[in-house]
Amino acid sequence: MHSVVEDIPLFPSSIGTRRHVTVHRFGVGRPGAKIYFQAGLHADELPGMVILSHLVRLLQERQGEPNGEIIIVPCANPIGLSQRIQGYHAGRSDLGLGGNFNRNFPDLTPLVGAQLAALRSEGLAMNGEAVKRAMVKEVAALVPKDELDSMKQVLLRLAIDADFVLDIHCADEAVLYAYVSNPEHPAADLLSRYIGSVATIGGVPELVDFPTACLLPWRAAQDVLPDVSITECLSATLEYRGSKGLRDDVAIEDALGLIGFMEAVGLLEGATKAPSQVVTCHTTLDCVDYVRANAPGIVIFSKTPGDHVQAGEEIGVILDPATGDRSSLKASAPGVIFGYLYSQVVIPGGTVAWIAGNSPIEQQTGDPFP
Ligand SMILES: [Zn+2]
Repeated sequence: MHSVVEDIPLFPSSIGTRRHVTVHRFGVGRPGAKIYFQAGLHADELPGMVILSHLVRLLQERQGEPNGEIIIVPCANPIGLSQRIQGYHAGRSDLGLGGNFNRNFPDLTPLVGAQLAALRSEGLAMNGEAVKRAMVKEVAALVPKDELDSMKQVLLRLAIDADFVLDIHCADEAVLYAYVSNPEHPAADLLSRYIGSVATIGGVPELVDFPTACLLPWRAAQDVLPDVSITECLSATLEYRGSKGLRDDVAIEDALGLIGFMEAVGLLEGATKAPSQVVTCHTTLDCVDYVRANAPGIVIFSKTPGDHVQAGEEIGVILDPATGDRSSLKASAPGVIFGYLYSQVVIPGGTVAWIAGNSPIEQQTGDPFP
């Protein structure tokens, strides 16, 4: 399969330094759906970058061309990849003033109506393609003020008119799971099956992370055009287990799963990969139990991600080694543990484990992963 590689420069960060985002494009200009993959927005989350490097190679080795466009950004965050503190890589949050790299993306919803009105006045028919044009124009009109802004603009420009936006992350120690903004999308279940998601959590978070930034303008456009049938993008965060123990054979299987998904939705010809046999727990954001530390200390877990627990069941303790005091960590509802914090030195209020259940839980306020 033919690919085009492009290095897109970011704003300079300091004198003599200029970073870029590398993008691989397949099926440039071909009619059909568009799918966008990125990994490493949290730059210390490594499995996705390995998976997407294999995906690029597997597609390059494949015969034929896609029925649409495939855009792949294996390293979405060159800023985060460059950050080190006393010898240790620190890629989750901007060491400048930008905070968590996957927060505070521009909200494109307020201007969608005006952009669509302008396109309508030019005689363009109002449909999904018009929505894409409007969103592309909105992203192009953003005025970045620094390197981080320009990186967010570059990523949005590549993804905003895609029919499938798949942002690849991982936890510290976890099973494979996914956040799907719109689980009612016709391809949402296929996605869970082909990636082998143990837990798929549906719903749109209140914060504007990357997948949310890509989805919300579609919803705003539908509000402006209530009589037009619009299929919004499938917007998802795929969490490929934990950040440690990278293995090529596992990453290749994961890349093949993504190829299987593209075959299932018709972007690629053939059916080379069967869906996973994993039984997925489907739930929603309000049913996720984010277990938070209730004391400072060292977490010692007694359960493993993938284990099912009952309400009130202990999943571990927090030990204060100085005093020997132990505080119990308990599940508040039945469900499956799907992720852990790897750094086991914790402070009160920090999220240490997350459990997917099927009944709404009274959520603590605040971002569980700031
Ligand atoms: Zn992440």
